[in-house]
Amino acid sequence: SSLQSAALARVKPSATLAVTARARELKREGRDVIGLGTGEPDFDTPENVKEAAIAAIRRGETKYTDVDGIPELKAAVAGKFARENGLTYGTDQIHVASGGKTVIYNALLATLSPGDEVIVPAPYWVSYPDMVLLAGGEPVTVVGHESDGFKLKPGALEAVITARTRWLILNSPSNPTGAAYTRAELEALAEVLRRHPQVWVLTDDMYEHLIYGGFDFVTLAQVAPDLADRTLTVNGVSKAYAMTGWRIGYAGGPKPLIDLMRKVASQTTTNPASISQWAAVEALNGPQDFIAERAKHFEQRRDLVVSMLNQAAGVRCATPEGAFYVYPSIEGLIGKKTAGGAVIDSDDAFAAELLDAEGVAVVQGSAFGLSPYFRVSYATSEEVLEEACRRIQRFCGSLR
Ligand code: PLP
Repeated sequence: SSLQSAALARVKPSATLAVTARARELKREGRDVIGLGTGEPDFDTPENVKEAAIAAIRRGETKYTDVDGIPELKAAVAGKFARENGLTYGTDQIHVASGGKTVIYNALLATLSPGDEVIVPAPYWVSYPDMVLLAGGEPVTVVGHESDGFKLKPGALEAVITARTRWLILNSPSNPTGAAYTRAELEALAEVLRRHPQVWVLTDDMYEHLIYGGFDFVTLAQVAPDLADRTLTVNGVSKAYAMTGWRIGYAGGPKPLIDLMRKVASQTTTNPASISQWAAVEALNGPQDFIAERAKHFEQRRDLVVSMLNQAAGVRCATPEGAFYVYPSIEGLIGKKTAGGAVIDSDDAFAAELLDAEGVAVVQGSAFGLSPYFRVSYATSEEVLEEACRRIQRFCGSLR
C-alpha cells in the first residue's frame, strides 16, 4: 500500500513554490534567471522590529507561550483591528499562529467534517483548495471573470451555496489578481449571505495595506456587522511589515470558533515562535508611516508592469487595485509556436517556454484556477521589472 495518506493524496504541492524551486535550480546551473514567481516584499523588516526581537531574546522571552499568542500580542492585534478596521474584538476573540497560512488551516481543521463544502472564488490563492482537501472538506470553486474584475458576483455566490456549505473564503486584495472588493460589492455579497445562516466567511486581508490609487479598503465584518458572529477576519505581519520569515499571522472572530482553533494548535504546533511574537507586537504598535511609503513604490511598479505587459504582443493586462501581483491574459497567444516549434497550447506551456527561452519565471494561471493567464509578482526593483518585461515582450513577439 502507498506510504501517502488518503488525505494527502488529494493534495498537490504548491505550484508557486515549485516555480521558485525551478528558477533557483536554473540559477545554480549558471542561467540568468529573473524570478517573478514569489510572493514576498523585497523590502527588509524594519529596524525597530528587529531590535524588539533582539531585546526579547536578551530578556529571556525564549520559552513556551500561551498556545494562541501572548497577551501583549493579542492586545496589539485587537488594537490594530479597532484602529484600522473599526472592529471590536476582545483578546479572547484573537488567534495568533505561525503565519496567516497556519491561521487559515487551523480554522478549516477546526470546523470541516467530511462532505462539508468551502466556496473558493477563482482565481484563488493556491493553498485554499488544497488546505480544504487536507482538512477533509470539499472545495467548490466559482470563477470571477476578468470582465468582472476577477471578483465573485452575488448571483454566482447564490448559485453555489448548498446545505453543506460551511465557509466562503474571500481574499481582498487578491493573490493572484490584485483585485479588491469595494464596500458596495461586499454589501451585495453580504445580502446573499444573510439568506444562508449556515455559511461562515473567512476573509483573508493579508494584502490590506498594499492598495493603490486611493482605493478605500474595507473588510466584510466592518461592512456587515450583523455577520461578524460568523466571520473570521484573517490578517498578518508577513506582507505589510516585510516579515515573511518570522511566521506570524492572526485572526479575529467569534469566541466559539477561536476556542476550537486554539484546541487544534494545542495538539499540533503549540505557540508560534516567542521571539517572532514580540517582534510582531512592535510591528503593530510601532511607527506605521513606512507602510504607505512602501505602498507608493509598489504602485509605481504596478503601473510600470501593467504598461509594459500591455505592450507585449497578444497579452492583455488589467490594472488591479492592490497586492503586488498582476494577472495578464494570454488568450491572444494560444495556438502560436515558439522559434523552436513548441506550441503554446496552455498557460502551463507559456510559463515553461518563457522560462526556457528568456529565463523569466512566472506562474501559470492553471495553478490559480483560471486560464489562460499568468501571474507576475512585482515585488522586486523597477530595474529588474523593466528587464523582465522587455524579455516577456521579446518572447511574445517571437511567437508565430
Ligand atoms: N493569504 C494569502 C492570500 C497569501 O498570498 C499568503 C502568502 O503568500 C498568505 C495568506 C500566507 O501568509 P503567511 O506567510 O503569513 O503564512
